[in-house]
Amino acid sequence: MDEACVILTKRIKISGVVQGVGFRPFIYRMAKQFELVGEVSNSSSGVDIVVSGVQCNVDNFIEDIPQKIPPLAHISSISVSSVLPTLVDFKNFSIVKSRESRESGAIIPPDISTCDACLDDVSDSKNRRYRYPFTNCTNCGPRYTILMDVPYDRKKTSMKSFRMCSLCQTEYSDPGDRRFHAQPNACPTCGPSLCLTDSDGNPIESENQIAKVSGLIREGNIIAIKGIGGFHLTVDATNNAVVEQLRKRKHREDKPFAVMSSSLDNIRSYAFVRKVEAATLSGIQRPIVLLGKVKNYPIAKAVSPNNSHIGVMLPYTPLHNLLFSEGKFLALVMTSANLSGEPIITTNQDALKYLNKIADYFLMHNRDILTRSDDSVLKYYAGSTRIIRRSRGYVPLPIDITYNQSTVLACGAEKKNTICLTRNKTAFMSQHIGNLQSKSGYNFFLETIDHMCNVLKVQPDLIACDYHPDYMSTRYVSELKSVKVVKVQHHHAHIVACTVENKVSDPVIGLAFDGTGLGDDNTIWGGEVLISSYSSYNRVGCLEPVPMPGSSMAIYEPWRMAVSYLYKAFGMSLLEIPLPILVCLKKRDITMLISMIRQKINTPYTSSLGRFFDGIAAIVGIRNKVSFEGQSAMELESLVTPGIDEKYSFDIASNKKFTLTASPIVEGVVYDVLKGVYKGVIAAKFHNTIISMFVEVCLLLKKCYNVKHVALSGGVFQNSVLTDGIKHNLEKHDFKVLIHRLVPCNDGGISLGQAIVAQHSM
Ligand code: ZN
Ligand code: ZN
Ligand code: FE
Repeated sequence: MDEACVILTKRIKISGVVQGVGFRPFIYRMAKQFELVGEVSNSSSGVDIVVSGVQCNVDNFIEDIPQKIPPLAHISSISVSSVLPTLVDFKNFSIVKSRESRESGAIIPPDISTCDACLDDVSDSKNRRYRYPFTNCTNCGPRYTILMDVPYDRKKTSMKSFRMCSLCQTEYSDPGDRRFHAQPNACPTCGPSLCLTDSDGNPIESENQIAKVSGLIREGNIIAIKGIGGFHLTVDATNNAVVEQLRKRKHREDKPFAVMSSSLDNIRSYAFVRKVEAATLSGIQRPIVLLGKVKNYPIAKAVSPNNSHIGVMLPYTPLHNLLFSEGKFLALVMTSANLSGEPIITTNQDALKYLNKIADYFLMHNRDILTRSDDSVLKYYAGSTRIIRRSRGYVPLPIDITYNQSTVLACGAEKKNTICLTRNKTAFMSQHIGNLQSKSGYNFFLETIDHMCNVLKVQPDLIACDYHPDYMSTRYVSELKSVKVVKVQHHHAHIVACTVENKVSDPVIGLAFDGTGLGDDNTIWGGEVLISSYSSYNRVGCLEPVPMPGSSMAIYEPWRMAVSYLYKAFGMSLLEIPLPILVCLKKRDITMLISMIRQKINTPYTSSLGRFFDGIAAIVGIRNKVSFEGQSAMELESLVTPGIDEKYSFDIASNKKFTLTASPIVEGVVYDVLKGVYKGVIAAKFHNTIISMFVEVCLLLKKCYNVKHVALSGGVFQNSVLTDGIKHNLEKHDFKVLIHRLVPCNDGGISLGQAIVAQHSM
């Protein structure tokens, strides 16, 4: 018999993101194409396939699967085994009913931007979904945000209250249709609908609500628009007066707003878009991408003041697309609708209750958001696209870790909080939860823990949290009874988050640079050099600790750090230095601060690099007060004049550990300021100095420890000049440099590190 005619039967098991993404119909179509018989079904760990047919067709079928998978699918593993043909007898190929299982190993897909086919439906006047803002299919639409439980099925989503009409039902049941088993499938007859109201919630009737809203935006109104993971506040991004009005009403002084534009071409009129950035912007997740501004920038100044970058995204729902096709806006501000320090608002009631003094009108709908999710934020720097805020589009996709028996719940930090759950070889990080200091932020944290444990079907046997006793996440853990708890040092967690995502388990030199984290000596750390493994760390170096007069007040008033550094460098003679910052401060304030430092009143010590940046920015004259943490460091980075090689002299003291002293740098900066050197040059020299100083320490450590890798973590590494420079210089000395890509380097990444440290400390 000709070999090609041998009939064989194979079982193929696939795991990964293969449910709720059109995987079974895809297999169905492929099997038909290769004239195979058999069946496909969802299983507890993914998808099970049995196929029978001519050998070469079976082989080609198996080979084609990973290459042709649907856009939202992601395969983690494929296993193929032979089945005795006598055991099966198929007449055709079919999709068989899922076997429901308590143990869910399948992965829930994230929310995905509208696909091109759906956009075609929406813009085709003959299509029954013409101009329908809730159009979606198996390849696109909301997922995680409308899900209340698994398995992912319509009755377990917020679409359960909408009964499909017969046309939608037909699509839903037809394996050949793009909407086969698309759980949020809907049309104007049976699905969710829009509702426009004024700020008191009175409905505004209109033939074309989206055209009406476009007009209102044009006239300079602020609109609250319900989206996928929460409400946005929307204004015309070219109208400076209304952007300022929004800042005033939202009590948000300078923190940048993100904008949305309808096309890459429009974005290019105000920002530089590199090829990789264009790919990220138009990827299925549609995140916010931080882009460099062009000269003669046509966007309102108030959108991202004193910042060389602007956060930009492309439309990701049919509603966004319709808004732009009606309004022809160059760009709209689309900022998360929340009250300062609180989570994004998701319900119509809360929007009307809490935003009625901010928004003039509300564009809402009746599809409930069950899980809130902010827009994700990414930035391309130091050679890769890196996540800064991980939420919509990325959550709840897993992160690979090494197998571990214990199931860990890691509770994260205090601000930019995320939580992390581990299950076998995967870690699931939550969406950005944010600040836990507000009641609603803390409730969001509690809800997220419950929800994730439920949908992942895990029961943690180990809990990890930060050292800091006052973090709300730590307090939560201390109230839990009868669980094993591991407290993890903040900067150790940062470094391990970085090494684990880079799949390095050997000990590394860790540079952990951030604003604040409690050290094991009860001082505030943040400019740390650690020799770090998954289970332990050794603090082998740090920035010289300095007084932080006023404690956390110094975070928002960087002039305090400036005085502290100046006092350290010059003593009382600082009062005679004619620095602009000292001239504009009241002498009384300065001397009071100095006496606080001397008498150690409300003045902890800190080795934080974030605070050093703040202090230098104030000395340079950038600002004495900030409205959000890290603002002055960001502005200092934005000022850097390119092409400057000079640096300030620095000193590394060695006594058991390396201490990097700040005073010579402070003296150098002061001298330049007095000479009238341009701020951008001082900023460049300062960055160069920090880079050289820490690279020098790494070289000294290389001699004592046989370590090849340097891991960079902590919020300060959002600074691209610093990250680029440290990476470049370390690589010149044959170090392998590990930097975050999939997980934020800021406190949003802490939970992953905590989970791994907890597992390895047992
Ligand atoms: Zn679609
Ligand atoms: Zn319908
Ligand atoms: Fe941190």
